[in-house]
Amino acid sequence: MDRYFTPVKIIRRLLFSLLVVGLAGWLFGYTFELLVVYLVGVVLWNSFYQLKLSDWLWKSRATQPPQAPGAWSDIYDGIYRTLRRSQARRRNLALILQRFREAAETIPDAGLVIESDGTLVWSNKLAQLYFGLQWPTDKGIRITNLIRHPRFIKYFGEKDFREAITLGAPGGGKREIELRIMPYAKEQLLVIARDVTRIRMLERMRKDFVANVSHELKTPLTVMQGYLELMAEPSALPPARMTKAIADMTTQTQRMQLMVEQLLTLSRMEADYQETFTEQVAVGPMLHAMVSEISLMLNEQQVQLQQQIDNDLVVLGNADKLRAAVHNLLVNAVKYAGKGAVIHLTWRREAEQALFSVQDNGPGIGEEHLSRLTERFYRVAADRNSHTGGTGLGLSIVKHSLESHRSQLQVESVVGAGSCFSFRLPRDLTLPQG
Ligand code: ADP
Repeated sequence: MDRYFTPVKIIRRLLFSLLVVGLAGWLFGYTFELLVVYLVGVVLWNSFYQLKLSDWLWKSRATQPPQAPGAWSDIYDGIYRTLRRSQARRRNLALILQRFREAAETIPDAGLVIESDGTLVWSNKLAQLYFGLQWPTDKGIRITNLIRHPRFIKYFGEKDFREAITLGAPGGGKREIELRIMPYAKEQLLVIARDVTRIRMLERMRKDFVANVSHELKTPLTVMQGYLELMAEPSALPPARMTKAIADMTTQTQRMQLMVEQLLTLSRMEADYQETFTEQVAVGPMLHAMVSEISLMLNEQQVQLQQQIDNDLVVLGNADKLRAAVHNLLVNAVKYAGKGAVIHLTWRREAEQALFSVQDNGPGIGEEHLSRLTERFYRVAADRNSHTGGTGLGLSIVKHSLESHRSQLQVESVVGAGSCFSFRLPRDLTLPQG
């Protein structure tokens, strides 16, 4: 239906109604009076509905427009329709805005929107957490007053945002935050901050690892190279020294071989991290077999080994990883406790958990070393390059193996009295008694 007004339509309507009223007035002989009454009526009628419209627009809370006849009904309906349309559009915009906010909250990074002069416009919750912002109190404050790190202030002042900047999290702590600034809307900048503590730590570990491996390989290689250079001149190596040279080179080669094997074991353990286990591992018989494997070493060291092994104590786990853990702990005790040591080897049930422990009466370990023992390549200084030929990787293999079984290595040691290395496997991995 054609409900909108045009000037022609209005004039045509007015002229038509005036003609009808004029004709009626002419019939009754009151043309002028009737036209005046009609025009006054039209003015009053229009004023009345104008007033109703004004009331509805400015005072009323009703969403529906008031009822009106004729042309005013079309006007009211038109306004109502426009209002509905703009309400729907507003609702849509609010929905889009809410979705954007929700998305901004779910991204794993902290986000801030600032004006190009640094005034804070918006921030997500993570940004408030990272930078300790009070929201909305801090809105409108310059970012350099909120992130007061001198390096950030300099970085922001230079306006060169091609490279990201890494800062320590405000409020201290070890957290490292990487900040990236990029142009956003007109005259605005988007600041994205992410926690890179773990990435940086892994980078450092990788660098340390490469440095350590190179360092560990350098010593045996230098020894071998020295002998090889001497061998190039046969007269420089009389038979007696030759025997020593071969013995030294064999030791160094074995050391390198052991190190490569342990590194491979570690990387295999890292690669196949298991959460659940179905394999039943009989650790008791495994320990008996191990003891006979190292019997030569036990005899050489004149170790007195006292065993308390529960053969029926079976656990769920990875046999290779558990073997690696207990083997390293047992061999370490024999290696480090010294000649004639007494070693207690225990595998028993305790409070529905499986307890493994190996206790020796050797020289013990200084307290300052205890927390670092499971670090890769860490050895107690006096043992470095000593006759034990250790690599410092054994206990990190133990740590990895135990972590995958949701357990932890416990070390108790007293210098001069001995050490006790133990771990407990959790209840859900310990099978109930037969
Ligand atoms: P390594 O290959 O040197 O044996 P580990 O990681 O197995 O490396 O052990 C790290 C260090 O812990 C060793 O160098 C040694 O000094 C010390 N250690 C381990 N077990 C014992 C023990 N039972 N008694 C004394 N010191 C020990």
